[in-house]
Amino acid sequence: MLTDMHCHLQDKQIFPYLSDVIQKAKKKGINQFLCCGTSESDWQSVLNLHNKYPQIIPAVGIHPWEIKTLSANWTDKFADILTENTECIVGEIGLDLHFCKDTIAEQKDILITQLEIAREFNRPVCIHNLKAWHLLLPIISNFTDIKIMFHSFSCSLEITQHLIKMTNTFFSFSCTILDNQKKSFSEIINIIPDNKLLIETDSPYLLQKNESKNRNYNEPANLIFVLEKIAKIRNISNENLRKQLIINSENFIKDT
Ligand SMILES: [Zn+2]
Repeated sequence: MLTDMHCHLQDKQIFPYLSDVIQKAKKKGINQFLCCGTSESDWQSVLNLHNKYPQIIPAVGIHPWEIKTLSANWTDKFADILTENTECIVGEIGLDLHFCKDTIAEQKDILITQLEIAREFNRPVCIHNLKAWHLLLPIISNFTDIKIMFHSFSCSLEITQHLIKMTNTFFSFSCTILDNQKKSFSEIINIIPDNKLLIETDSPYLLQKNESKNRNYNEPANLIFVLEKIAKIRNISNENLRKQLIINSENFIKDT
């Protein structure tokens, strides 16, 4: 069964429809969901979802958009959750120069703190990055001992080649690839090594116009469109790509 490697099923846009959403995904062969928290206020909701649906893998983290919401003892809460929930991974964390340039200094500090805690607990991490590769690269080069997934991956060919050479890196493509006609984008998808490739929807976000016509949120069932597009670009069968993605997801998640 496939895993949607990055989604936010605790989000109020999708949460009320969850049993239906999970059933619909299952019919398409998607039966595992890496569900990322974004601030202290939703960590418990993510853990509750995992308790109700074991196929939901929990992740907790402080998203760069949520830097200003931190409590004084957030690192203790973060570490306590990782101690008590051995299956819990770290995310969504990262840097964002597009939507919140004003907090970038704090974003860097909070990201480094979270990476250090991830290392301490030996957990993989999901990274968000918008227009901040030049700041992110020197940071993550100090954390090559932990598994790092770049969520909704998109960047230049040159940086992609650099990231591929780093150990423990994974590249997760989202529904944003569905409408991307740029030739360079196909080139990037083609050079990712087979064992570093992942896919996600980022549900309920990143809804593309050719999906879910009856709804206004993205959902994990749409993962299949991402798989089909990548299979076409890489000129392999959907079935062979599916098999590889299942192996890669397990490799990213295991030992946690
Ligand atoms: Zn996300």
